[in-house]
Amino acid sequence: MRPKFILYDIDGTLVSIKSGFMPGLIDELLRRLGRDEAIITDTSFAGRTDRDIFSRLLESNGLDTSAFDSLKEVYLQVLDEMLATDHLITHNGAERSIDFCTTSGHAAGLLTGNFEEAAFTKLNRAGLDHYFTTGAFGGEHHDRNLLPEVAFEKGRELIGSSLQPSDMIIIGDTPNDIGCAKHFGCVSVAVSTGSYSADQLSQHKPDYMIHTLDKPEEWLPQILNN
Ligand SMILES: [Mg+2]
Repeated sequence: MRPKFILYDIDGTLVSIKSGFMPGLIDELLRRLGRDEAIITDTSFAGRTDRDIFSRLLESNGLDTSAFDSLKEVYLQVLDEMLATDHLITHNGAERSIDFCTTSGHAAGLLTGNFEEAAFTKLNRAGLDHYFTTGAFGGEHHDRNLLPEVAFEKGRELIGSSLQPSDMIIIGDTPNDIGCAKHFGCVSVAVSTGSYSADQLSQHKPDYMIHTLDKPEEWLPQILNN
């Protein structure tokens, strides 16, 4: 059996942040940057990279892109200060499915739109951070489609040069997760625990469609053994 590299999205897949938290955080963020009122034109953050979300936020609030680094720094600080375990829902089976992968000889990593530090803050509050050492993060590119290649290089360091894109399994809750897996020739697994229904996700033709990460012994073996 070839070792696989299983890459988890975070928001909507491993955990969900309860509604109301992000608007409050963005208000606080812009207040610290000297803005009284934030203009938030985006209706959905799902499946997008933090680099993309923050670039748009700067643009719609008339802030120069040179403010990106300070916005990022303040965001990471505010997230760390404000995010408590109670703000998160950890999805059923998140922990068990990661355990299942790693105890059966495969490697687990992250493929997420979050900045790396934000990813680990969220996972820390959910008690999942100790599972992960590597992955591809939303600070690295605007475009999620470019993240699997970043993960591939990291996977080769972890598993060896025999790793192929088709050995990478990308698990996520949005069409963008499915799209980026297809873009790099990886296996896509869509899970309907985020803001998209199974019907909506199925239209994007994931290789596998699941409703929950729970009971990994029922859905993971066929994906890992293929
Ligand atoms: Mg997601």
